[in-house]
Amino acid sequence: MVSSASEELAQVIYLDNQATTRTDPRVVEAMLPFFGERFGNPHSVDHVYGNDAEAAVEAARADVAALIGAEPREIVFTSGATESNNLAIKGAAGFHKGERPHVVTLSTEHKCVLESVARLKREGHEVTVLGVDRDGFVDLADLEQAVTERTAVVSIMAANNEIGVIQPLAEIGALCRAKGAYFHTDAAQALGKVPLDVNAMQIDLLSISGHKLYGPKGIGALYVRRRPRVRLEAMMDGGGQERGLRSGTLAPALCVGLGVACRLAAQEMAEEAERVAALRDRLVDTLREGAGPLTVNGAMDRRLAGNINIAFDGVPAHALIEAVPELALSTGSACTSASVEPSYVLRALGIEEATAAQSLRISVGRFNTAEEIDEAARLLIAGVTRLRQAQAAAAQ
Ligand SMILES: *Cc1c(COP(=O)(O)O)cnc(C)c1O
Repeated sequence: MVSSASEELAQVIYLDNQATTRTDPRVVEAMLPFFGERFGNPHSVDHVYGNDAEAAVEAARADVAALIGAEPREIVFTSGATESNNLAIKGAAGFHKGERPHVVTLSTEHKCVLESVARLKREGHEVTVLGVDRDGFVDLADLEQAVTERTAVVSIMAANNEIGVIQPLAEIGALCRAKGAYFHTDAAQALGKVPLDVNAMQIDLLSISGHKLYGPKGIGALYVRRRPRVRLEAMMDGGGQERGLRSGTLAPALCVGLGVACRLAAQEMAEEAERVAALRDRLVDTLREGAGPLTVNGAMDRRLAGNINIAFDGVPAHALIEAVPELALSTGSACTSASVEPSYVLRALGIEEATAAQSLRISVGRFNTAEEIDEAARLLIAGVTRLRQAQAAAAQ
């Protein structure tokens, strides 16, 4: 069973690295002993089993912290970026509800941020959801106006999961600090792809997801600044692990996996970004030459190296995805792709419904090769050509 599924998967070129990434084999290798003989509970430190697990978890915590210029004790392990975003936003808003009842976010955020903010609104918080410009960026003048002495937290993502644009984090951080509001950033897509420094960028809270940077699924982290001290209300009651912010026994295997993923990113990010950007640009250039009229959504500068969001004029995205089953592509975020609604992110950019319905997200990653990119371009051009010919024939 396993081998036939693996064989089937191996036939398909994976170009959906923003939905999830393959766990790096070096990460898997490092995790394995913690599913076996190194099974201790990292919170039971009365014997060598617990001490061993605790030491491994703390080494991983230091590797996660180092990637963002933080101190190890500022890292809280969670189950992923969804949980980190919930804890950051609801935790900050809940703790400061009295003196600061207001939260600010962006219309192109991930659903877990928008839904967290929507819940706060139902519970009586004041909410501002800012729009973005045609390229997908926040307007800093709008933000300056929206943030006040009553704002508890501003949540603006580092890089977008559909269009890959990178927000001006340092400018946002400076603006929030001046108003005394916490700056939270969802860095699920940006971490390990672009350099992030919580001090240089004045970030107070930063969400991390293991499976977006070649680590395992089911683990993430929240950076929580200590100086000046960020105060959060915990979501989970229990044994008080993770400085009381996230009770529950940690999974040492997953923590170790996240730590190794962060260490590899620190070592290889610069070289990898260059290589991945070259592959992405080669793909776009080939498509521009061979696939007829097309539109790229979002800014091409200040964009993640691997991302492209592209509409082939007149070709519905779902039809093209069906026409090239040899490629793993996406219309956008995994959480909304079941619905046929055009992406709310693309609509927030002011992109027409027709173009949004023709838009595909292609995300190149660490394990893609030049041969795969050339094959993907060939298949896409053939698919687009076939679909346009069928349309022309039907129109006659
Ligand atoms: C994937 C993703 C999330 C959710 O992360 P999980 O670890 O899967 O919970 C949140 N925000 C962004 C921008 C993402 O890309």
